[in-house]
Amino acid sequence: MSDEKVRVRIAPSPSGNLHIGTARTALFNFLFAKKMGGEYVLRIEDTDLDRSSEEYKQNIFDSLKALGLNWDEGPDVGGNYGPYKQSERFDIYPKYAQMLIDKGYAYECFCSNEDLDKEHEIAKENKVPYKYSRKCLNLTEAEKAELKAKGIKPSIRFKVDYKELIFNDLVKGELKFDTSLIGDFAIMKSNGTPTYNFAVVVDDMLMNITHVIRGEDHISNTPKQILIYEALGAKVPKFGHLGMILAPDRSKLSKRHGATAVSDFIKEGYLTDALLNFVALLGWAPSDGVEIKDVDAIAADFRINELSSSNSIFEYEKLNWMNGQYIKKMDISALTDLALPFLNMYDTNKYTRKQLEHIIEITREPITLLKDLVFDTQYFFETPNYDEVKELLNSELSKDVLEKFRQDIENYNLDDYEDIHNKLADFRTYFKEQKGYKPKETMWAVRAALTGRTKGADMAAIIQLLPKEEIINRLNIVKAL
Ligand code: GLU
Repeated sequence: MSDEKVRVRIAPSPSGNLHIGTARTALFNFLFAKKMGGEYVLRIEDTDLDRSSEEYKQNIFDSLKALGLNWDEGPDVGGNYGPYKQSERFDIYPKYAQMLIDKGYAYECFCSNEDLDKEHEIAKENKVPYKYSRKCLNLTEAEKAELKAKGIKPSIRFKVDYKELIFNDLVKGELKFDTSLIGDFAIMKSNGTPTYNFAVVVDDMLMNITHVIRGEDHISNTPKQILIYEALGAKVPKFGHLGMILAPDRSKLSKRHGATAVSDFIKEGYLTDALLNFVALLGWAPSDGVEIKDVDAIAADFRINELSSSNSIFEYEKLNWMNGQYIKKMDISALTDLALPFLNMYDTNKYTRKQLEHIIEITREPITLLKDLVFDTQYFFETPNYDEVKELLNSELSKDVLEKFRQDIENYNLDDYEDIHNKLADFRTYFKEQKGYKPKETMWAVRAALTGRTKGADMAAIIQLLPKEEIINRLNIVKAL
């Protein structure tokens, strides 16, 4: 390997919120740069001004930052190779297009959309793959001048010389393309803006990008891009194409399967660390088989040539499980910070910060998403609706149990968890010995009265946390049911 500094880039188009697949591409580029002591660049590919928006650009910035995939150079932080937004580079591309024309690698094309549509139709009728007819390849200077005088603005096409093109993909190994299947393709549109294939090459060349790591949906662009590099006399970067991410039904991952944008995952209550860990596993496998790893551990174990060239399945179930694992082990104060916005329908001011942390601590065990806390903590903030447990509460056993509980609660030291815990144990024993009630039946009655449910968090902790007047209030409501 040469001692050239590794420079990679992530080049999203701001025509949508940051897709989870783009986040994976960003992660692998980030990890590769980290591993190689290289630089990781963010470039915004907004040449299609109609489809690009500031809002999507902001979403891309925010989502990458939330995931911790901070870039060394980019539109906001600058760098030596700017500007990093293609729309600010429009004056750069025509120079290189002209250079290709001058060297005989490109030519002006005056065909209208209608002309090209006709060519497409004929190819379709003849059942042959479409290739541009090269109608404008040999126009004379006089003919071109005449067309221009009529006000026709040409596009610029790259002239594809037919040859077998071979490149060694970092992920997929040796790939061969027959360039005779590629027609002469546009590099500049008639409105003076570059096409994707041209802009990406000019930018990667000028930004000294050494490795292009991206999804295999771009693999058909790679031969065209290599031809442009060669024509420009530029060094061709190394390419690595990642297998695609498919939905569990093996179709293209789309919104009907669940969230696909990083910001939507975050809104649903996925933790960014869990998301990052999960997407790393879509193509990368830990050498020790331990899948739960933070980004530093993944970086240490990351080898680009070991990435999987086959497609990965996005298992939402597995992501949910993994998210639950992260929720269980996350620092409680940090978790509470993330959880509170999800509970904004409740008056959380009723509790101190410490109590809120305690509520999250005792309810986090079974949840997979932060939004699950809305239901699982509801009884701390709202008096229950007893519909579901009405029958249970009206049983002889419950009435009996709650009558005594109402009296006993006066003797509980509600600030002292141990005291509550021990008194509840005595309470169960009392009913077991005196009335033969099963301990769990005794507790169902207490739980149903205080929470409106038959299962939930640790009962002693709930009693400790609920304000005493609310406990009394609920016991009174239940008595009157
Ligand atoms: N703007 C392209 C995309 O969003 C980037 C392709 C590339 O990495 O070359 O798909």
